[in-house]
Amino acid sequence: MEKNNPPLRIIVPGRVFRREATDASHEINFYHLEGLMIDKDISAANFKAIIQDFYREFFGKPLKIRFIPSFFPFVEPGFQVDISCLNCQGRGCSACQQSGWLEMMGAGMVHPNVLKNSGLNPKFWQGFAFGMGIERLVMMKYKINDIRLFYGGDLRFLKQF
Ligand SMILES: [Zn+2]
Repeated sequence: MEKNNPPLRIIVPGRVFRREATDASHEINFYHLEGLMIDKDISAANFKAIIQDFYREFFGKPLKIRFIPSFFPFVEPGFQVDISCLNCQGRGCSACQQSGWLEMMGAGMVHPNVLKNSGLNPKFWQGFAFGMGIERLVMMKYKINDIRLFYGGDLRFLKQF
């Protein structure tokens, strides 16, 4: 944002290492896909439409999604995006920790201070940013109920792809 003039549309894939307790839906090592869009007259509705289109194309059918208010330091407002769990059709399973929903990404509208610090006037420029775990997308698409399988080293799991 400091080196390029808007409008901006970027996608940034990368490997992530995170210190946290592991369970069926949390891993210390995963891939993240981050995105940012900066333009004039961008709202959360633009983000919602884009992400609904993405999920429909990726999964081959429309999905139920929900936004939950959440805090991330570089966005305001921030929200967590959940999709209805495809493993259990929303009934509850180990992949969704029995909730029927799976957190797919953190997102939000780019904080005005981030725009200002990049030399952009937030009165004219807005945008959204998101980050999603790629393994969770794959888990939903291929009905994998434990994220730890990806890096567990079991060749029987890996060879099915
Ligand atoms: Zn489930």
